[in-house]
Amino acid sequence: MAKYDPKSLKAEEFINDGEIQETLAYAEQNKNNVELIDQILEKARPQKTETGYVCAGLTHREASVLLACEIPEKIEKMYEIAEEIKLAFYGNRIVIFAPLYLSNYCVNGCVYCPYHMKNKHIPRKKLTQEEVKAEVIALQDMGHKRLAIEAGEDPKNNPIEYILDCIKTIYSVHHKNGDIRRVNVNIAATTVENYRKLKEAGIGTYILFQETYHKQSYLELHPTGPKHDYDYHTEAMDRAMEGGIDDVGLGVLFGLEMYKYEFAGLIMHAEHLEAVHGVGPHTISVPRLKRADDIDPDEFDNGIDDEIFAKITACIRLAVPYTGMIISTRESEEVRSKLLRLGISQVSGGSRTSVGGYTEAERPHDTEQFDVSDQRTLDEVVCWLMENGHIPSFCTACYREGRTGDRFMSLCKSGQILNCCHPNALMTLSEYLEDYASDKTKEVGYKMVEEELKRIPKEKVREIAEQNIQDIKNSNRRDFRF
Ligand code: SAM
Repeated sequence: MAKYDPKSLKAEEFINDGEIQETLAYAEQNKNNVELIDQILEKARPQKTETGYVCAGLTHREASVLLACEIPEKIEKMYEIAEEIKLAFYGNRIVIFAPLYLSNYCVNGCVYCPYHMKNKHIPRKKLTQEEVKAEVIALQDMGHKRLAIEAGEDPKNNPIEYILDCIKTIYSVHHKNGDIRRVNVNIAATTVENYRKLKEAGIGTYILFQETYHKQSYLELHPTGPKHDYDYHTEAMDRAMEGGIDDVGLGVLFGLEMYKYEFAGLIMHAEHLEAVHGVGPHTISVPRLKRADDIDPDEFDNGIDDEIFAKITACIRLAVPYTGMIISTRESEEVRSKLLRLGISQVSGGSRTSVGGYTEAERPHDTEQFDVSDQRTLDEVVCWLMENGHIPSFCTACYREGRTGDRFMSLCKSGQILNCCHPNALMTLSEYLEDYASDKTKEVGYKMVEEELKRIPKEKVREIAEQNIQDIKNSNRRDFRF
């Protein structure tokens, strides 16, 4: 039997089934151990330092005890601390992005995904470079600055050269005052050499969802195709890091397996990255399985309700305090509202999950990857965020200033976020308000910008930010950043 070793590069050793089983048993035994639960909660709480806050985070065992705990007042405490952590490191900013589907050709047999090879009722489509350009113009016209590109796995139709061409095209389009300043990539596990090419193409985060950490289930859920190889998939982030990508994004597709198992695996994966590469995941996504063509989520036995989903989100926030957390439009406005208070730092908005969807007047459904619950426009999402006290941020500065990997983490820990990310958020929000917002959003937005400028601690930084925002209003000068 494999031995647990977070520093190992072998999947079965760093995501070790024996250790997960023991963790779940330990969590079950201690789920009513109030003294231990209080200690864990205290450990998770942010501590004030001279320059900002620090947070200890939690081990997978500690975090699993919290997840198992069903005592209502302790759950309330978890939510409270999750919000404290969120505010300490990410403030009230929420980063905005959109997915861009490039191709739904796929040779895998993932039983939960409509793009699986045997699905003959969806048309297969792959964007030409001209079509990529048109989609990017449509996204820029909405106001987007940050994309996550998505594609099925198909070495013939979507080879790495195709993905690289698309990235080049995306960065080359500058329509009116628009540009895409950060392209994150969500494509299948690949080789170190290909990760190096992605890094050279200037990608932001490399995102790959584990889907499930449970090996036996993984093998059954991915019966055919290259994705069947659990070890290759699970070890992908180490290859990405070896290829020079230091911002990686993890995720589990909740609903496929038992959530407590997945949660322990996810936190162990984060611990592994920290132990081996000295930097944890840049982001963690929390997608839930949704209805799609040929896919009925009720056929899967492990669906989680909104309450459990909220608890998972809060427990991730407590365990890995410096990691960004992403929620997509798979979730409704109501669910997103709740999770924004529990640690989410990035949301997608105005998304279309079909290949070529942004250039269609009506939302197309034929090539959609999953049903979008939150169908509001980007403008509606931006306005709603502000009305709920969040600053929508279109900022992409960190990665363009070389603040990736551990350099981003140290910015987070240094307490300089209010002098850096906060003004960047306000300047990019002002760009949005000036170039794309409806009258109502503009009004709500500039009120917020005015109020939030006052919170920048350093006077010099505040003055520069104010001046830049004036320039945005009075000229076509854009892309200011600290
Ligand atoms: N093909 C790539 C791969 O295998 O990782 C990546 C992209 S895939 C387009 C993006 C993600 O969508 C998958 O990793 C999966 O978690 C999620 N997904 C697939 N089917 C889904 C469904 N029915 N509901 C919600 N999310 C789904």
